[in-house]
Amino acid sequence: MNASVFPFSAVVGMDDLRLALVLNAVSPAVGGVLVRGEKGTAKSTMVRALAAILPPVDIVAGCRFSCDPAALDPACPDGPHEVDVAGGTRPARLVELPVGASEDRLVGALDIERALTEGVKAYEPGLLAAAHRGVLYVDEVNLLHDHLVDLLLDAAALGTSYVEREGVSVRHAARFLLVGTMNPEEGELRPQLLDRFGLTVEVAAPREVEPRSEVVRRRLAFEADPAGFAARWALAEADLAGRIAEARRRLPAVELSDSALRQVASVCAAFDVDGLRADLVTARAAIAHAAWSGRTEVSSEDVRVAARLALPHRRRRDPFDAPGLDEDQLDEALEAARQDEGDGPDDGPDGSPDGPDGSGPERPDDGGRGDDAPATDTTLPDGTPEDPETGDQPPAGTGAPAPDRPAATPDQPFRARRLEVPGRGSGAAGRRSRAETSSGRVTRARVPDAGPVSRLHLPATLVAAAPHQVARGRTGRGLVLHRQDLREAGHEGRESNLILFVVDASGSMAARARMSAVKGAVLSLLLDAYQRRDKVGLVTFRGADATLALPPTSSVEAAAARLSALPPGGRTPLAAGLLRAHETLRTERLRDPRRRPLLVVVTDGRATGVRGADHLGQAHRAADLLAASGVASVVVDCESGPVRLGLAGQLASALRGEVLRVDELAADPLAASVRDRTADARTARSRTTRPATRPATSRPRPSGPRRARGVA
Ligand SMILES: [Zn+2]
Repeated sequence: MNASVFPFSAVVGMDDLRLALVLNAVSPAVGGVLVRGEKGTAKSTMVRALAAILPPVDIVAGCRFSCDPAALDPACPDGPHEVDVAGGTRPARLVELPVGASEDRLVGALDIERALTEGVKAYEPGLLAAAHRGVLYVDEVNLLHDHLVDLLLDAAALGTSYVEREGVSVRHAARFLLVGTMNPEEGELRPQLLDRFGLTVEVAAPREVEPRSEVVRRRLAFEADPAGFAARWALAEADLAGRIAEARRRLPAVELSDSALRQVASVCAAFDVDGLRADLVTARAAIAHAAWSGRTEVSSEDVRVAARLALPHRRRRDPFDAPGLDEDQLDEALEAARQDEGDGPDDGPDGSPDGPDGSGPERPDDGGRGDDAPATDTTLPDGTPEDPETGDQPPAGTGAPAPDRPAATPDQPFRARRLEVPGRGSGAAGRRSRAETSSGRVTRARVPDAGPVSRLHLPATLVAAAPHQVARGRTGRGLVLHRQDLREAGHEGRESNLILFVVDASGSMAARARMSAVKGAVLSLLLDAYQRRDKVGLVTFRGADATLALPPTSSVEAAAARLSALPPGGRTPLAAGLLRAHETLRTERLRDPRRRPLLVVVTDGRATGVRGADHLGQAHRAADLLAASGVASVVVDCESGPVRLGLAGQLASALRGEVLRVDELAADPLAASVRDRTADARTARSRTTRPATRPATSRPRPSGPRRARGVA
């Protein structure tokens, strides 16, 4: 027993996590666990404790790839192994993948220099090889580099890791239990990776006094005497390990009856999950739970437990929906399946009128609230076209400043076009602006830095070596290659950026441009930023000042929440908003110098404040300052109504940026739900007839951007 690891059995509470890990230990086919929760919940402690209760692994002596003596891999890079070379057993491994790991560290390193100069296939196995038949654990999995995510997904899907460099390739088995932990406040997970985890669990620190003190008591006891603590828990650990081993033996005998299978299908259909992966995972988890409970037939309780762990992350439609599963709805679906027993298979619960997202933020009956806020200044005719689509709220006391009216509910988001920082950056990988990256299209060859060369540019290397062959006394076959001949491939891919929104939340916006439409547009850009792995920040300005409503973060959810709660009203201190943005970007440049910012100013370009000052002039001077610091910007013009001043365009020129109307933000303007609603009241009216549940087709799917990337 490893005394430096806190024992699994000694972790207080976290029953769902305990169960999810145990089910995977019983049946690795369940597909791993994603653990979501705030910092300091001991979720990592529990995960790291898992290896100690997994059954030991039979190995082949001398094989670095953990071949199973019972099923030898003929293609093992250390093979072929002789039959009957059992090398005993070793404990199951938990291999931790650090978020900042290099590609070589993950998939292993091929020594190209030796391959070319000595003809030796020198391969140093990576973490995927080490994790084979064990656990691969990624803490802060949501912060994992995109490129590593792709490699991880490929390996997880195929059960194989494949490395190729300039025609030299290595392939080895890599089947592992994937466990990830994350703090959702630090950003969401890519949907493709989310779907890869069999089960998800939300954890929170206990709120009650007794369990909290017990956690601390045990932690202190462990720290004071790790070995003694481990010894006190050794019996409990051995008991748990024994039960897991026993459940594993029972697993093949567990039967999934047609009736239980129908319950699985019914529950998955009721929660409107994508594809059939959810059904498979739920079925496997239910079987594992039956085996764990000492039964050989899957009961509806097994299905219920499995669904509760397998479905929450699969029914989520975008990063703004609350996680979790409605347990009443789960029970209803199970009950429906039991009652349907013997009926036709096609009257599934998908006709249920109250889908899980029936409570979306854009129900038409409250969509217009707050829209008809009066302007605080009355220099423009803006009262006429108020709310043609709802008409449910008579304009309240025109002209009266009401700074804290209820926040407008955002319109339905649409798929946004890609806004881009011009030029070529070198920031963290992502999907927005062009950048020099470690993967992607090869665009040039360069002399490598010291250290191993992982991406050789072969033609350039040969050209560099050719002139020296005679001088180096080349005889026979094979090139005489020296280190200084090596050329590395330079790649071009895309980086992620910091999108800093500067949003006008003043009374003038509330009246003229319809805060709901504007919020819907910003929400769409936020969704887009989430999918492109950007950092986002939010500056709002209204009344007397500008506020940094959200400091730059990777949590798009936080940004969306701040945006939705934004109350409109007051005057329009545009200059203050821009200056606050300038200051925020300056700080952020110090923190994260390689991340290039994109400023998105959402405004009609107007600036108001105390009488007598040149507010517009001040705003344009602030814009000049931003432009001079080299910040790329886009002005989203929210001006609407019959009289247009084109002030947003003027601001964009001062920023030396681009100007786009709200309806030009959609990737496909025809499909977008955003229109200039003031100009086209009929379109607006027809929107109110939408059913309360969102039409799936007009909703940006989490998987959308992946497909769209090719077009973009
Ligand atoms: Zn082997």
